[in-house]
Amino acid sequence: MKLDVEALRYLSKDDFRVLTAVEMGMRNHEIVPAELIDRIASLKHGGTYKVLKNLLKHKLLHHDSSKYDGFRLTYLGYDFLAIKTLVNRGVISSVGRKLGTGKESDIYEVASEDGTVLAMKLHRLGRVSFRAVKTKRDYLRHRSSYNWLYLSRLAALKEFAFMKALEEHEFPVPKAVDCNRHCVIMSLVQGYPLVQVKELQNPETIFETVLGVIVRLAEHGLIHCDFNEFNIMIDDDEKVTVIDFPQMVSVSHRNAQMYFDRDVECIFKFFQKRFNLTFQVNTDDNEDSDADTDETGWPSFSSISKSSGFLDKELAASGFSRKDQEDIEKFIEEDTDDTDSGREETEDKQFVESMEANVKGLSSFHLEEQEEQTSNSDEDGVEVKQRSCKAGQ
Ligand code: ADP
Ligand code: MG
Repeated sequence: MKLDVEALRYLSKDDFRVLTAVEMGMRNHEIVPAELIDRIASLKHGGTYKVLKNLLKHKLLHHDSSKYDGFRLTYLGYDFLAIKTLVNRGVISSVGRKLGTGKESDIYEVASEDGTVLAMKLHRLGRVSFRAVKTKRDYLRHRSSYNWLYLSRLAALKEFAFMKALEEHEFPVPKAVDCNRHCVIMSLVQGYPLVQVKELQNPETIFETVLGVIVRLAEHGLIHCDFNEFNIMIDDDEKVTVIDFPQMVSVSHRNAQMYFDRDVECIFKFFQKRFNLTFQVNTDDNEDSDADTDETGWPSFSSISKSSGFLDKELAASGFSRKDQEDIEKFIEEDTDDTDSGREETEDKQFVESMEANVKGLSSFHLEEQEEQTSNSDEDGVEVKQRSCKAGQ
């Protein structure tokens, strides 16, 4: 999706007030009735209706009158809210070219006021299901918009919390700068995803570095779960940076061993195929074979996880709660059960597969309204009684 931020310049305070009112209404409405938007925004003299027209014109809202007259945010509308907040905070001042499109995100170059170029990741979890609305799967229709807002926000929150913690423990990850809604601002990695790299000066060294990261992560209590050539960046000096953290799990996760093995296997296979690395396989007869290593000589998950774990607990205690983790896992497990290596080559196939996975995911994931006790005020000062989305069982 093209992110044309030109319109940002022309939007008034009232425009943002109404856009925020729609966002708030979406906490408990798939399509927010126009009267509710008007009530939340409380602009004078029916001003809301004029503003709604303007927001529609800029494609920040979608109008739906199939059941009643109402509106929902578009991706662009949600992007604008996050970008505006980050601009107000002085974190970024402009949005530049697109750096990449993942299955569930769009990444843009952005600049801060002092000209530092950063990366902005807009999470789009549930994008596939959002698109699936077009396929007339009506049962998705009821959930897709809640899910997209809720899950994308969770994914961003998780990615930010994990990136920050990993950076503090000196893992080679981008620097986490800020986070708002579904948007994470991080340092720009000056490099390319490993999948685009055809030649390396020192493939063995890179292989060991990369595998070393998997092991050290596990020693810290974490598994990346999507550790492959798409999520490893490498620069001209062959420095490695690992990205993409919304799917990480703790080593105490019930499928931890499987996820760990899958990450390791991805790396072995990729280096074998792309850089012709060969690996010596230990047999039982080998004198130095060791219960703490697997047949390739690398530490086995059981030996690492014995001695591991604090970062997973630290994170559980951070802003990203256990409940958030459970919610996002429910979605991600269904969605990423297959490894995504080679997904660029097989995008169409993957699209259909992940759409099916999303359908499964959504059927076990329903949102229920839960009224909170307190009344809150958001950053734009709009007072509203908050309702939060809760994942069902
Ligand atoms: P997804 O979760 O959708 O896979 P990623 O975080 O893997 O998203 O990012 C997708 C692509 O965007 C990456 O393959 C990379 O090319 C680019 N990218 C992501 N983060 C950065 C960054 N901090 N600096 C530079 N490029 C990045
Ligand atoms: Mg990725």
